[in-house]
Amino acid sequence: MIKLIKNANIISHSTNGVYDVLIEDDKISKIDKNIDVDADEIIIAEGKTLIPGLIDMHVHFRQPGFDHRETLETGSLAALHGGVTTVGMMPNTKPALDNSIMIEYMQNKSKELDLINILPIGAITKGREGKELAGMRGMTDKGAIAFSDDGAPVYDPNIMYRAAQYSLMTKRPLINHAEVPELAKGNMREGETSCKIGVYGIPEIAESIMVARDIEISKYTGAHVHIAHVSTSQTVDLLKYSKMQNLKVTSEVTHNHLLLNEEACESYSTDTKINPPLPDKKSQKALIEAIRDNTINMIVSDHAPYAKYEKEVEFETAPTGISGVETLLSGIIKLSKEQKIELKDLIEKVTYNPANIFRLENIGDIKEGKSFDEIVEEISKVEKSKVLFSIPTLKFLKAGGRIGKVSGTIGEILNIKPVITCNFDGIYETVSKSRGMKKAIKSMFDKAMEFVNGDEVHSLAVYHSGDEPETLKLVEGLKKNLGDLMNKSLHFFEGKISPTMIVHTGNGLIGMAVIKK
Ligand SMILES: [Zn+2]
Repeated sequence: MIKLIKNANIISHSTNGVYDVLIEDDKISKIDKNIDVDADEIIIAEGKTLIPGLIDMHVHFRQPGFDHRETLETGSLAALHGGVTTVGMMPNTKPALDNSIMIEYMQNKSKELDLINILPIGAITKGREGKELAGMRGMTDKGAIAFSDDGAPVYDPNIMYRAAQYSLMTKRPLINHAEVPELAKGNMREGETSCKIGVYGIPEIAESIMVARDIEISKYTGAHVHIAHVSTSQTVDLLKYSKMQNLKVTSEVTHNHLLLNEEACESYSTDTKINPPLPDKKSQKALIEAIRDNTINMIVSDHAPYAKYEKEVEFETAPTGISGVETLLSGIIKLSKEQKIELKDLIEKVTYNPANIFRLENIGDIKEGKSFDEIVEEISKVEKSKVLFSIPTLKFLKAGGRIGKVSGTIGEILNIKPVITCNFDGIYETVSKSRGMKKAIKSMFDKAMEFVNGDEVHSLAVYHSGDEPETLKLVEGLKKNLGDLMNKSLHFFEGKISPTMIVHTGNGLIGMAVIKK
């Protein structure tokens, strides 16, 4: 299979500017100003931006054990909507990913789904209980990419110290959820806003004390410690110290902590209740500066979805965490605009840097010899976007639309929308009001009729999710047209199927499945 992308504006670590890209068997074989070959597929990318598929090294996909919140499949679909093609999956499932069998299971599941790369992160301690080291060597052999008890800290410094020694042997970093539990009993960041709205706060030292300890352990052992979801200015200072000392310490921040601060909690929206909590303005500024000057190496989503009913409770009782992988790319673009940070520098923090830090070969860059895992995007449209975003890799077309389970996203508070995947021959249409939903439905309908007229069809299924009146009206229209036109049986589904054609209506999806004879 030879694919040619013409005139794409490339943003990546190794290639920047307008180029043609030739892909042979999913590998980038040539990048040049003008490539002229016979290709099986040519994508004209004029005016579009080509970036490497994003790598989000901090997600919680909840499966096994919490399938009502998210599954590997719905999580993968959410990732694709955020331009993310590789994730690091945290081990706080039930059972936890704390042994080689679980790591292998996760690898197989991910291969079976074949949507994105799901890289398992093994637990540091058995059952993530912080008491006994898990079998890090066995898990490494089966493909664990790093180790973490995320969701909880490794509280016992002796366990963390021993884990650091193992990490030197396995050459896999330790990611610690830096938090002193005794100090972290509140519901938001302690400060002006927490006083104003009467919510019990968590002081910033709940994080920085643990970060200081882990930096000391890295310094003493030489082990690579990666600080998860940095949220305070003190942590940034500690990271600067570790850079000065040339320690093997790396770090990440979520797009939510860069784009929002504690004031968002004034709404008492449980979507703003995350862990670590949203920063005060001073720390938010320090985090942005740390991204600008490379003190913090990576941006992640810390995607941590819950079922709707779990989040629709009072602020104090709500669990911490929110969906976020689907807004990672749009969040970064917003940050670039608002803070006047070069988009290239931010893209680096979700592609090249995580690939480099976690030693993921072949991805995260657009360069001859790398595997083709890229996305073509009309960057200018992303913020408003429900629009035109094509992933020129066939396997992603299988992804269909987001049929996720999450309660909400911080994106809703920020007024950013996930970017939506795939516009391919009318089989999958994503729709903006300006481009016309009716037009997209019609092209889906026409495509279905092609099958019908070719007499290949046994029956047709119409599917929808989301019941805003506009969607329902379109579904009714579609059913009526189909009913008039054919005598074949028409199935109507409410719920999850894998339609071969989908129109995304903004809040809902309308899909059609063609069942062939
Ligand atoms: Zn965490």
